[in-house]
Amino acid sequence: MDMEKYVCQICGYVYDPEAGDPERGIPPGTSFEDLPEDWQCPICGATKMNFMSFAAVMGGFR
Ligand SMILES: [Zn+2]
Repeated sequence: MDMEKYVCQICGYVYDPEAGDPERGIPPGTSFEDLPEDWQCPICGATKMNFMSFAAVMGGFR
């Protein structure tokens, strides 16, 4: 399965599924879709709703 990176629209933090978020109990290999709904950006505290897929950002889709 292809796991996509997601970018925080507020601070620019990139969630990398291969790295996970071990400090918050998210093991490496966790896709963004599988993050708990209450997961927040480690940098600015934004919710999942504020994240956008890396491909969409880099593709310049508006
Ligand atoms: Zn953020």
